[in-house]
Amino acid sequence: MNERGQKNTGQKKRRGESFRICRETLGFMAKTAWREKPVVFLVLLMRLTADLTGRAREILLPKFLMDELVLLLADAEKTAHIHNVILYAAIGIGVRLLEGLLTTVADQTENVAEVWLQGYIDRQIGARAMEMDFEHTEDPDALDVKSKAQEGMTWYSGGILGVLNAFYRMLSNVLVLCGAFAVVAVTCPALLPVQLIALLLMLYLNMKKNQVEVDSFLKLSKSNRIFGYVFFQLTNIAYAKDIRLYDGAPMMGRKMDENADKQVRIWMEQGGKTRTYNWGMDMVNTLRDGLSYFYIGYLAILGRITLGDFSMCVASASALYQSLFGIAGGIQDVVKRCNYAHRYLEFMDYPAAMEAGTRPVEPGEHTVTFSHVSFRYPRSEEYVLRDIDLTLKPGEHLSVVGLNGAGKTTFIKLLCRLYDVTEGAILIDGINIKEYSREEYRKLFGAIFQDFTLFAFSLKENIALEKSDGADRERLDEVLRLTGLYEDAYKLPDGIDTMIYKSYDENGTELSGGQQQKTAIARALYRDAPIVILDEPTAALDPLAEYEIYRQFGTLVGGKTAIYISHRLSSCRFCDRIAVFSDGTIREYGTHEELAAREGGIYAEMFREQAKYYEERAEASSGFRRGNCSTERNLTDNI
Ligand code: ADP
Repeated sequence: MNERGQKNTGQKKRRGESFRICRETLGFMAKTAWREKPVVFLVLLMRLTADLTGRAREILLPKFLMDELVLLLADAEKTAHIHNVILYAAIGIGVRLLEGLLTTVADQTENVAEVWLQGYIDRQIGARAMEMDFEHTEDPDALDVKSKAQEGMTWYSGGILGVLNAFYRMLSNVLVLCGAFAVVAVTCPALLPVQLIALLLMLYLNMKKNQVEVDSFLKLSKSNRIFGYVFFQLTNIAYAKDIRLYDGAPMMGRKMDENADKQVRIWMEQGGKTRTYNWGMDMVNTLRDGLSYFYIGYLAILGRITLGDFSMCVASASALYQSLFGIAGGIQDVVKRCNYAHRYLEFMDYPAAMEAGTRPVEPGEHTVTFSHVSFRYPRSEEYVLRDIDLTLKPGEHLSVVGLNGAGKTTFIKLLCRLYDVTEGAILIDGINIKEYSREEYRKLFGAIFQDFTLFAFSLKENIALEKSDGADRERLDEVLRLTGLYEDAYKLPDGIDTMIYKSYDENGTELSGGQQQKTAIARALYRDAPIVILDEPTAALDPLAEYEIYRQFGTLVGGKTAIYISHRLSSCRFCDRIAVFSDGTIREYGTHEELAAREGGIYAEMFREQAKYYEERAEASSGFRRGNCSTERNLTDNI
């Protein structure tokens, strides 16, 4: 195939693709509006009625009025003409009032529906983002699709109503076109080719302009995401400390400036390219109007049409051109909006990274097995875990230790199925976890990670989370007691209903680091899941609170299966088994006594080092506070 043939095939393919996108988007919009807010269709009907009566009034009424006025001036018998003139004027006023009424009611109803539908879309995007596979939250492509879905479905397409209105405008123009065409064909047919040629030129120029705008949208989308991210960091109170202490604001400000410059460049480039097309369109408009007036005036001078016909012809020619342009521009507008809004559909349908199972999880206790599991993160070549092989019996408490970067958190993430293993399998009760329904599977775990998040909601809601409406008060008090947060919680101005952070409530509270960590532990315990996972749960606690958590570990997790990651080896004594991770694999596995006694073992070495550290601290503090070092004493006893 020659170059031209290839180009044609490419264009055909693009058109076919564009048609599919529009069909899908319009279908989705219509279905969603019909299901969620059917009043939208009543709004469109009111607008259509107002538009069509308005056009008929503009084209027909002046003709009848003018012809009647001419007859009134010429005829001796004036009464009948006066009556007709009054009748036409009354019809004009009545129709105008009806249009105004319909438009006002339609506008008001539409405003309410628009806010509601936008909220609906935001909720859908939020819910989809929450249930997206975890690995997509780190995937730049997935994040880009999400960002484009948000932007495409709001600013750029105008959302459901923006797209439906654009489609409606096109339909309304088709009806106006039919009427105007009939009038022009009968009264001043030579105008048809002038209007048509002008239209084709305008369409071409407008299409070029739209292409430039769509290209800019795609470029702006990435830059908007970076802009949004930096803005979020700057304004998020949770990062306020780090940004102030490390003087991060200037760096963030520079990043915002750089991005703003990039956006300005994109807008300027777009402005430069579209300016030429705008000038071209102005020229075509001027030529078309000049030729039309000249021709209609010529017919009137020759006496081939009445004064009323002259007015009707001018108005119809204008309506014909406007509706033709409206249809063509409308098609482009609908295509453009559908292309923007289709990003939402793509996001909602974003392919899952992980297989979805359907098997329910049986109630009761569970055995967890890692069978020769190896893993590397998506888009990464390096294995982070290699050949992990262990079994955790029901009710067993496993402590996972190792240096930073050894793969401990990754091990937990795999168990929670935030990622799927690269090789091997994880089994619960002998069944591959991929077979379980994801919702059911997640309920197996009460997990807290080092980078847990507290929300600007009440303390109660932060702990109960999914069950905040009907939080079980007794259970709440129980976990508050277990985590040592009970006294502090009930001292707050509104008790456990006190809001965390002051972002949305001036009576809100700023919890200390330790209190935040206890709240997170309380959240994991409240869930009452059969497997409890605590990833460095005591890092922000003071030694006394930390000691309390260790001491109560058995009570905290009860008879549940538990996995506990900690740097403090004193916690390992409370666990049945210890897995020592190093270089992405389990180097040692056994009880505290076995591993501590192993000559040259990693655990024994780490344990000795930490014991020495605590003994030195205890000695140092006893030098200052002789006879009053029970806390340190307890801690060293624990090691
Ligand atoms: P630990 O919990 O023992 O400190 P992690 O499991 O957090 O170790 O990390 C193990 C290794 O995996 C580290 O080298 C870390 O850089 C890498 N890693 C952690 N998270 C990711 C990720 N999302 N993508 C790529 N590599 C990661």
